[in-house]
Amino acid sequence: MTQACQCRPCRAQRAFRYWGRRLLVGVVVLTLVGSPLLGLGVLAQRAIFPPERAVWFANLLTLATKANLAYQREPAVDGRPRDWTEFYEQVKEIVYQIEEENASLQLVDPTGFAFVDYGPGRRSAVAGSYSSVRGNIVLNERFIQAAWGDQSFLSVLIHEIVHSQGYFVGTSETLESQTEIVATEVLAAMANLNYPGARRELLDGLRRDALTMAYYLARFDGDPHHTTYGAYPVASPWNDGDPDLLAEWERVRASIFTPAELARSDKRIRWWLERPEEYVQVLAKYVVTTTTMELDAACGSGRIGENFLQYDYLGIQDQLAWDRASRTWVMAPFAAWGDIIALPPLEMDDLAYVLGGLGYC
Ligand SMILES: [Zn+2]
Repeated sequence: MTQACQCRPCRAQRAFRYWGRRLLVGVVVLTLVGSPLLGLGVLAQRAIFPPERAVWFANLLTLATKANLAYQREPAVDGRPRDWTEFYEQVKEIVYQIEEENASLQLVDPTGFAFVDYGPGRRSAVAGSYSSVRGNIVLNERFIQAAWGDQSFLSVLIHEIVHSQGYFVGTSETLESQTEIVATEVLAAMANLNYPGARRELLDGLRRDALTMAYYLARFDGDPHHTTYGAYPVASPWNDGDPDLLAEWERVRASIFTPAELARSDKRIRWWLERPEEYVQVLAKYVVTTTTMELDAACGSGRIGENFLQYDYLGIQDQLAWDRASRTWVMAPFAAWGDIIALPPLEMDDLAYVLGGLGYC
């Protein structure tokens, strides 16, 4: 059976019917937190605190502060599209930007999009997901809700579109961190090219990620993580963290966030601390490894120090599938994937440009 209709709205509707069957990879958005300098001399005297962690903690609070100052100067532009036409234009631009960054050797058009209700609990945790089987993307319907006030729509959309280029090789830790690092550089490229809302969202993400990683170091005795391959440094979800560092972190966060942002941040942290083991994993995967490697590259050699991986895309192929609604076997389109491609090290030049402009590196 061939597909009767290849138009994007039709494909989106089809994807909506099938989205729930198989989801592989997702992104968890942390609406966490928000920094003046710490006295490095004081920290260096703390024997229980590894030197690298102390340096990173101080640098992260500096980055959060500088990113916030720039964020406050940005006009409040909403990066979300107003209709499906604008949405698909945005998708097309993102696919091209991924290719321009040399982050993909192939241009893959996702087969469909839908906004979905993930249900209680997951609604707060999961921002979007990509099915490598169907080739479609679903996004949390909360992005439609003004009350969520979520500025991370563009980042999440880019993240899922990076997955759709074949970024799902390896463990969840490896593939999610690689996907998110590419997404950050693509967002930085779009910010430098002046796509509406991109710079504001990038700066908002930088201040939040810097605060979040600083929190991870202070609260869970975490450490920077310089590779997407290999295990995380051990961080305990059950200890109480370092009271002095947490106090410093609280002070900086309060200087950055508005009272409304602070209340929301506290609520989000409270929600996550009810799931401490998942929280540590999520922070490590989406914030700590990614922020460490992004700053290593952007403030260092300019490129990521490892090769990211993608699957070769073979196209959509019809295969037999069980249709639960009609309880019959039907031919249905599936995405087919081939060999693993090792990509050249990602250049973080656009992020470096933004961080240079902030006076960070
Ligand atoms: Zn993901």
